[in-house]
Amino acid sequence: MILTHNMMSRRSQTRFLTLQRLAAIAVQGGLSETTRTCGNPSCACHKDAERRHGPHLYLTFRSRDGRSSSLYVPREQEPRVRKAVQAWAKLWETIVEISHRNREQMGGAMRRRKTRKGVPRGGRKA
Ligand SMILES: [Zn+2]
Repeated sequence: MILTHNMMSRRSQTRFLTLQRLAAIAVQGGLSETTRTCGNPSCACHKDAERRHGPHLYLTFRSRDGRSSSLYVPREQEPRVRKAVQAWAKLWETIVEISHRNREQMGGAMRRRKTRKGVPRGGRKA
């Protein structure tokens, strides 16, 4: 019992360290590459789609007010931004796993209580 408890807390300690490490760099969004025309109307990119500039990398995301936005990502920043987006995915995965474990513990406690007190099954759904 004590051994199990220690193992669990060590495991959850590791999870929280992972969360902290990921949260420090995570960015929610997607990466997409597009070609563009430039500001010079006499440039070939305006007449020939093959000669459009790029492909350029953009980070697309929803801003605080819920609007979809994008941010140009210079090539030298690409590894950093990719790492940030991957960190978000991993962060989300980790949080979902924490939620499963928390709910399972919660569910166990409620089942035990129900059995002991003889509370009928069912009830209001969330
Ligand atoms: Zn151009």
